[in-house]
Amino acid sequence: MAAVNPLKSFRDEATCSICLSFYKDPVFLDCGHSFCQACIAQCWEGSDTAVSCPQCRETFPQRTLRPNRQLGNFVEIAKQLSFQTAAGEVGARCTRSLSNSSVTSTKCSSV
Ligand SMILES: [Zn+2]
Ligand SMILES: [Zn+2]
Repeated sequence: MAAVNPLKSFRDEATCSICLSFYKDPVFLDCGHSFCQACIAQCWEGSDTAVSCPQCRETFPQRTLRPNRQLGNFVEIAKQLSFQTAAGEVGARCTRSLSNSSVTSTKCSSV
C-alpha cells in the first residue's frame, strides 16, 4: 500500500504541525511555515528574545506573524472535503459488511 492518498495529503496541508488539527486563524512566519495563531503564540510564550520556527528551527529577530488568509480558505475547503470522505467511508464499510453477510438490504447501499 505505497499509494499516496491525495485526499490525505490535501488534508495534511491544511493541518497545523503543532496541534495536529485544521489550522485556526492561520498565520505564516518569515520562513514560510504556517501555524494557528494561538499555537505559535503559545509556543513563543515566555521567550522575549529571538524566536524560532517550531518546524524548521529558523530563528527570527522579531515576531512577524502575517495572517494567511489563503490558507484559511484552503482549510475551509479541506474541512468540507474530509467530511465528504468520512461519509464515503461509512458507506463503503456498510457495503462491505453487507457482502460478508447473507442479509441483503437495499436501504444501506442506496445511501
Ligand atoms: Zn495549531
Ligand atoms: Zn519554518
